[in-house]
Amino acid sequence: MSEKLTPLLAQYRRIKREYADTLLLFRVGDFYEMFYEDAETGSRALGLTLTSRPHGRNNRVPLAGVPAKTLDTYVGRLVAQGFKVAICDQLESPSGKPVVARDVTEVVTPGTLTRPGLLDERRNNFLLALSPSGETAGLAFADVSTGEFHCGEVPIQSLAEELQKLEPSEVLIPKSWNPEPRLLPAGPFSLTRLDDYYFTQDFSFDKLTSVLGVANLDGFGIGELTEGICAAGAVLHYLEETKKSALPHIHRIAPYTSSDHLLVDRVSRRNLELVERLRPVPGKAGTLLSTIDRTRTAAGSRLLRRWLLAPLLDPESINARLDAVEELSRADSPVKTIQSLLAKVGDLERVGSRVALERANARELVALKNWLSVVPDLKSALASCRSARLSLFRDSIEDFSALREEIEKALSDDPPVSLTEGGLIREGYNDELDELRSLSRDTKQHIARLQDDERRRTGIPNLRVGYNTVFGYYIEVTKSYLSQVPKNYLRKQTLTGAERFVTPELKDYEVKVTTAEERARTIEYDLFVELRRRVGQDVDRILALSSLLAEIDVLAGFAQAARENHYTRPVVDTSTVLEIKRGRHPVVETFLDKPFIPNDTFLDTQDEQILIITGPNMAGKSTYLRQVALIVIMAQTGSFVPAASARIGVCDKIFTRIGASDDVTQGVSTFLAEMNETANILNNATNRSLVILDEVGRGTATNDGLAIAWATVEYLHGALGSDSGTRSSEPEPLTRIPQLPTSPPRPRTLFATHYHELTDIAVMLPRCRNYNFSVKETKDTVLFLRKLMPGPASKSYGIAVARLAGLPVSVIERARQVLADFEKGEHLSLTRLVPSVQRPEHRATPEAPTKLRTADSRGLEEEASEFRRSAPEDDIALAADRPADHPAIVRLRELNLEQLTPLQALNLLAELKRLTE
Ligand code: ATP
Repeated sequence: MSEKLTPLLAQYRRIKREYADTLLLFRVGDFYEMFYEDAETGSRALGLTLTSRPHGRNNRVPLAGVPAKTLDTYVGRLVAQGFKVAICDQLESPSGKPVVARDVTEVVTPGTLTRPGLLDERRNNFLLALSPSGETAGLAFADVSTGEFHCGEVPIQSLAEELQKLEPSEVLIPKSWNPEPRLLPAGPFSLTRLDDYYFTQDFSFDKLTSVLGVANLDGFGIGELTEGICAAGAVLHYLEETKKSALPHIHRIAPYTSSDHLLVDRVSRRNLELVERLRPVPGKAGTLLSTIDRTRTAAGSRLLRRWLLAPLLDPESINARLDAVEELSRADSPVKTIQSLLAKVGDLERVGSRVALERANARELVALKNWLSVVPDLKSALASCRSARLSLFRDSIEDFSALREEIEKALSDDPPVSLTEGGLIREGYNDELDELRSLSRDTKQHIARLQDDERRRTGIPNLRVGYNTVFGYYIEVTKSYLSQVPKNYLRKQTLTGAERFVTPELKDYEVKVTTAEERARTIEYDLFVELRRRVGQDVDRILALSSLLAEIDVLAGFAQAARENHYTRPVVDTSTVLEIKRGRHPVVETFLDKPFIPNDTFLDTQDEQILIITGPNMAGKSTYLRQVALIVIMAQTGSFVPAASARIGVCDKIFTRIGASDDVTQGVSTFLAEMNETANILNNATNRSLVILDEVGRGTATNDGLAIAWATVEYLHGALGSDSGTRSSEPEPLTRIPQLPTSPPRPRTLFATHYHELTDIAVMLPRCRNYNFSVKETKDTVLFLRKLMPGPASKSYGIAVARLAGLPVSVIERARQVLADFEKGEHLSLTRLVPSVQRPEHRATPEAPTKLRTADSRGLEEEASEFRRSAPEDDIALAADRPADHPAIVRLRELNLEQLTPLQALNLLAELKRLTE
């Protein structure tokens, strides 16, 4: 029979049942304990010692605990490992109760963090919900630490792109939905399934209108949405469930449309190293973000990151930002003053949200007050600004002096973090508190007076009044004076050389002092909570101020970066022209110890749509391609750009296919990954897109690769027609959510390649041009000029670069010999490579089947296989006697690959090996 549970464990079990899917941290005294399975899981996850405590006669309960003081650290580690953590607190003071009341006060999950130590201040922490319906999905996301909240509807096919752009920490989906990985790939977010009910229209509409305090949602511009509202309702429900409180700072919701932004997909974002490096280099930031980030506030750096991941599409909004940057980058602008004031402002957005959630402590309120004190100076620093954005910001900055004074009057200058130990409220703020405080301050004098009186009254010279935590106040008399002890002394404790007594008066005094201290602490707590509630009523204004300051911060940072890095203002318009004069790579130029060589670019959809760029390895092709994409992204973000001048006809999407990227964790080979990326580009690019291709088809046999590259260029040129519709050269409208193209697109394209054969295509296709990176060749080496010139490169210089890289001289010499043979039209002399094989008489096929399949362009593999086909069987030393009849070959021929499980494949491999022995 199971043992009867102790009251504490019974309480634990009851609460745990409600939070079965979480790790429950249960406050007991100064520790948060985990019991049973949670203790085992938690101790493993945190590397804690697993102990146990006796329960009943024969049982022990597994136990692991963390100190309450360091709770945040442990919670952070658990959440980072994907756990949901429920924090169960004591709801009353423990004195004298058999079991104190406890309940869960917060459930911490990756998408609902508000604790400052657990959040990265430079990025948003979005909780995102998806509500699918046919071809559309409702999408809503909120950052509870800042109060932002958006919802919209997107094509279900573009969900993966949206998630890449928004980088949520946690995604909520309905329980019954099992999306294919293609639609919802596993991401660096945790996935939480909720009952479908929370995604229903009725539930969500009621939830949204009640939390936002409105009768309908039309005023927010989301009244027409259906699935978007369902997703938003689920977000609010989950936040309330986990935060266990109202969400007063989430008081509005803004519509989200993905067509507002330039789309840079995950692959391109990585390739271009926008916010993270492809391969992190210790000590070197090296991203676009790190190169141009001059923000002074946490909210500003978060905003910049968001802007870079979702640059704008609308030239008017882009130019409004550029006007502000231009104004701030003038020599006489107040930018320095503005930035030094901003540097004094902490994370208004997150502290404001914590106030609203009733989680902020007194230190945070004092910090808030200090930050608000820069507001008037900032307003005057902006006084001379004329640009529309900056004038609007200046005029929208509100007056916070009353709020500041209120906090100043109530809180002491340096209050403790704890809200229950006192020391929060300033002297003179509350009369009762002052009185109680003076009572406990006077204790020492009172006791000294009492001791003198008693000594006089009893005639005991060494009588002492003392205090300890177990017995409280006592009078101590040594053994030799015991006979003089008066009758009203009550014996309390016997020591070796003395006795301790109390008197009714002393007991009364003790009660008065301890109740005064306790009462003072309660009053302080209540006054603080009341103050926090009043500040919480101003949270909308605080959050609005925070977003103003964040934007000013980013724009001022752009101005500073523009000045320091010699950037210029781009012209951004609705044309499809991309014209850059003396453009530079914003990141590479900061790493070089030599000057960066600038290059020009001209692309449009009418005349020069595709540039085929050839040139030796190391010439600067990749750098150039990336710099063009980065300049477009910077311009559409509202930043100045590294160029002498630039005209950017806005792009709707940027696609890049750069280098080989093996995604072995997803079971995708290098070539397949390359083809996936290419397919994505060809399927999704529009007439407004910018396509950057740095090699296509390198991961397979030469002819296959060249053929794919060739056909890709033809498709991008619009020469192949489309799989689904008629052709149009009109640019895509800017405001529409991008759909799959219904006509072959004509995106502006830069295509770098080592296939020299591809340069022939420029002669055939009217909007295609050849460019090359020129080099100067000396006797032994090549000199890179890094200059883009019209026309194709004359040759590849691969061997010269291999020499620079330090390949052994014998390999270089042999390679030159082989190359010379190729160039003479002589095919690789296999006789020299494999002396035992007699090379048959063999000549290049006089008429190559297509332009691509010229003899010169044949790869080694094809060469060898052609040779084998024409060689007399007996001459092939390596072949089996009759290879076609070999049992292993026969077995392989019979094989049906589709029906093979991995285990069968392994067994088969073993069998084939046996057959060849
Ligand atoms: P590969 O074909 O081997 O990929 P590539 O032609 O793409 O080579 P990059 O990788 O772009 O060459 O450039 C090689 C190096 O040359 C860069 O790392 C950079 O240091 C330098 N470089 C590139 N462009 C410039 C430039 N315009 N000015 C100065 N240095 C440059």
